[in-house]
Amino acid sequence: MAEILKGSPVAAKLTEELSARCEALKARGVSPVLSLLRVGDKPEDLSYEKSIMKRCEKIGIGVNRILYPGGWDVDMNEIISRMRGHVREISNDKSVHGCMMFRPAEYRDYEETVAAYLDPSKDVDCMTDSSLAGVFTGSETGYPPCTAQACVELLDYYGVDVDGKNVAVIGRSLVIGRPVSMLLMRRNATVTICHSKTASLPEITRRSDIIIAAIGRTRFVDASFVSPGQVVVDVGINVDADGKLCGDVDYENVADTVRAITPVPGGVGAVTTAVLAKHVIESAERMLS
Ligand code: NAP
Repeated sequence: MAEILKGSPVAAKLTEELSARCEALKARGVSPVLSLLRVGDKPEDLSYEKSIMKRCEKIGIGVNRILYPGGWDVDMNEIISRMRGHVREISNDKSVHGCMMFRPAEYRDYEETVAAYLDPSKDVDCMTDSSLAGVFTGSETGYPPCTAQACVELLDYYGVDVDGKNVAVIGRSLVIGRPVSMLLMRRNATVTICHSKTASLPEITRRSDIIIAAIGRTRFVDASFVSPGQVVVDVGINVDADGKLCGDVDYENVADTVRAITPVPGGVGAVTTAVLAKHVIESAERMLS
C-alpha cells in the first residue's frame, strides 16, 4: 500500500513557521492583514473562507472581508464597478498586505477586469497578469497561485526531490496546470504538460516519476495510468454520483501500485490556506524591507 501524503502535517509545519514570522513582524509594528472579496454566498466559497479565516487567526493575520450580497446576477456591472473601487483602495492602503477574490470559474473573465486594479505586490493568489508573468519568468513579482504552490510545498515536506525527475502534469489551466509545471521546471524537473487533446495519456503518465492530476474529472486517473514507484499528487476536488468528495485519481485502485499518493479530501486542499497565509506574511515582510 502507498504512503499517504496527508496535507495536515504540511499545513501544521507552515502554520508554526508563519506564526513566528508574524510575531516578528508585529514586534516591528506591522500587523499582517488580508482582504477577502466575496460575491454572493456560494457554499464552496463560504467553506473556503471559513478555513482561510481559521488559518489566519491561528497565525495572527487579520482578515478584512468585503462582501457583495446577492451574488453576481443582481447587477454585474454595479458589482464589478464597486469591486474595482475596493481593489484600488486595497492597493493604496499600506495597512493591507494581501488581497484575494473568490473566483467562480464562470466569472473568470470579469474577475480579470477587477484584478487589473490590484497592486501585484499584494496579489497573494496570482490574479494579475504581472503575477502570472512572475511565475513564468521566475521574478518575484506577485505570487504563484496558492494551489499550484501547495503541490510543491507538499512534495518538499515529504522529501520528494523533483530535480531531474520526469513529471506528468495533467491539466493546463492558468490556476494549476501551467503554474505548477513552471514551479517544478524551475526546480529542474522535466515536465510534460498534458491536456484533453493529449494522445496516449496513460503511456505518458506511466513512464513518469511523479503525476500531478488537475483535471476536474472524478477518479479519471485509474490503475492503467500508473506504475510502481511513482508519486501521485491529486489536486482534483469533485463530488461523485453518491455525493462523496473525491479527487481526479481513482485512489482505491491506484494506491495499490504507486509509492505515495495524496488523499482527497485531506491532501493538497489542506495545504492551500497555509500557502495563502505564507504569501500574506511574505508580502508584509517585503513591504518592511
Ligand atoms: P480547469 O480550468 O477546468 O482545467 C482542467 C484541465 O484538465 C484542462 O487543461 C483540460 O484540458 C484538462 N482535461 C480535461 N479533461 C481531460 C482529459 N480527458 N484528459 C486530459 N486532460 C483533461 O480546472 P482547474 O481550475 O485547473 O482545476 C482542476 C481541478 O482542481 C478541479 O477538480 C478543481 O476543483 C480542483 N481544484 C483544487 C483546488 C485545491 O485547493 N485542491 C483548488 C482549485 C481547484 P484542456 O485545456 O484541453 O481543456
